[in-house]
Amino acid sequence: TVKAAGRGRQCLFDVAIERGFAARREMEEDLHAAVAEDAIDVHYQPQISLATGLPVGCEALARWEHPRHGRVSPADFIPLAERSTLILALGHRVLARACADAATWPGSPRVAVNVSAQQLLENDFVERVTAVLAETGLAPGRLELEITESVLLKINADVLDAIRTLRRIGVTFALDDFGTGYSSLSRLHHLPLDKLKIDQSFTSAMETSDEARGIVATIIDLACKLGLATTAEGVETPSQNAMLRDAGCEQGQGYLYARPMDAQACRRMLGEAWPAGPVPPGLAQVA
Ligand code: C2E
Ligand code: MG
Ligand code: MG
Ligand code: MG
Repeated sequence: TVKAAGRGRQCLFDVAIERGFAARREMEEDLHAAVAEDAIDVHYQPQISLATGLPVGCEALARWEHPRHGRVSPADFIPLAERSTLILALGHRVLARACADAATWPGSPRVAVNVSAQQLLENDFVERVTAVLAETGLAPGRLELEITESVLLKINADVLDAIRTLRRIGVTFALDDFGTGYSSLSRLHHLPLDKLKIDQSFTSAMETSDEARGIVATIIDLACKLGLATTAEGVETPSQNAMLRDAGCEQGQGYLYARPMDAQACRRMLGEAWPAGPVPPGLAQVA
């Protein structure tokens, strides 16, 4: 079960922390090898239009099956990769794989790919992205890059330039986990973006907290005034789906609609007949 797996993972990392530097170093080396062997897998989670109930995109999520320890959560190995330049190679592999997979999807939905601040700060980032688009034949308008608020702290003229250049050719940018980081409204105002992703902590608190509902309504209002779209993360219940839709949120992503799934399952899911409606019937069973 998920819980048992979660506990297992916790144990592994508790042990790693206890054993300290050597164990972490070993995990880092194993991750390095996995990236070099292209053994990092990419799963996809659909993003649903709350107005139509239809999938409009999928987020690419890195997956690592450790040869001895089993599945390691990206919440653990992404920060590990970000401690060194390993995130550059890892991020590039995920981008290349995601674009290649998305190029084969029926209905031409978007693919959203997480990019770390380090990637964005690389001076050949634009060239790398455009090369992947050219190699895979994916239309730039179908690629969305998800950046976190940590990027806002490192924003400079070159980064702004890179974002502007990519947006000009049609690539879109979403600000991930919005509301949990350091973004000041003035920085937000200067960042050329297309979408805010409402963090799942707000989504999950909506049903029980007036404050959380207020925050969500305010984020949607802010996004609207800045000309940005909104996607709510971590939608797990029909009532969250309804509240978000009524508040004017455009898209939802979460276990209610589907869990992340492998590339094959994702292509199959996108090819199915989708009955339009507030909650896609049977979709939660797909994964
Ligand atoms: P994220 O970008 O915010 O991705 C959403 C996370 O929420 C995913 O976790 C997804 O599986 C999970 N999720 C989706 N729906 C639900 C739900 O209804 N309930 C709950 N409780 N969780 C839900 P995942 O796959 O474990 O990824 C964790 C984080 O790791 C991601 O958060 C992202 O920040 C990072 N990450 C994953 N892949 C990559 C990558 O290729 N590059 C970079 N830089 N970061 C990545
Ligand atoms: Mg994301
Ligand atoms: Mg997110
Ligand atoms: Mg998140």
